[in-house]
Amino acid sequence: VPAGPASTGKRRLGVMGGTFDPIHHGHLVAASEVASQFQLDEVVFVPTGQPWQKTETKVSAAEDRYLMTVIATAENPQFSVSRIDIERGGPTYTTDTLRELRDLNPDTDLFFITGADALGQILTWRYTDELFSLAHFIGVTRPGHTLADPGLPEGGVTLVEVPALAISSTDCRARVAAGDPVWYLVPDGVVRYIAKRNLYRGT
Ligand code: ATP
Ligand code: MG
Repeated sequence: VPAGPASTGKRRLGVMGGTFDPIHHGHLVAASEVASQFQLDEVVFVPTGQPWQKTETKVSAAEDRYLMTVIATAENPQFSVSRIDIERGGPTYTTDTLRELRDLNPDTDLFFITGADALGQILTWRYTDELFSLAHFIGVTRPGHTLADPGLPEGGVTLVEVPALAISSTDCRARVAAGDPVWYLVPDGVVRYIAKRNLYRGT
């Protein structure tokens, strides 16, 4: 019996949004574990659009983040990557992502997968009521972040324990900038792509 809301018999599509700068094994393990526990047919990774104004943190080009996500997921027949947030441009709002995926995928139940850190911000997101009508939310554990029930709508969120991987993109970028290895923190192809494109090398 799959975790979460009772099956409606529809196709079950997981949605993993993120900056993926770079994608790492924490993302992949979380998606894999949720796909198994919730009996998802597929998980689509959706790299965010490029913030149009410079924020505190510099984000790599959308095309690099997209390609790293493709490289990391290509071998898994259940994983795919969507360009919808990149093509829309500007900052990504999860309602826009989910509305577009709903329109692109008729007769499909959407399951939005998010880490404990991001889940904590859900209540501050815009259009919260609509969000929960678009998808079931799955909050996954993440080392360093507590996964407490944030008092979200009844039945709208399921909290899931995934094998803890203390990996973050921020740490991966810092390691590359310092000349430290990221082997086995990110997929091999992503290690090579980072080197090829000279990403995260700093100024
Ligand atoms: P950054 O350090 O740049 O914020 P990140 O590692 O948090 O990067 P994101 O692209 O921001 O990666 O994360 C996308 C989604 O994956 C978020 O919902 C985040 O909570 C979740 N996530 C990231 N790392 C992990 C991890 N190690 N375990 C579980 N979930 C994770
Ligand atoms: Mg993050």
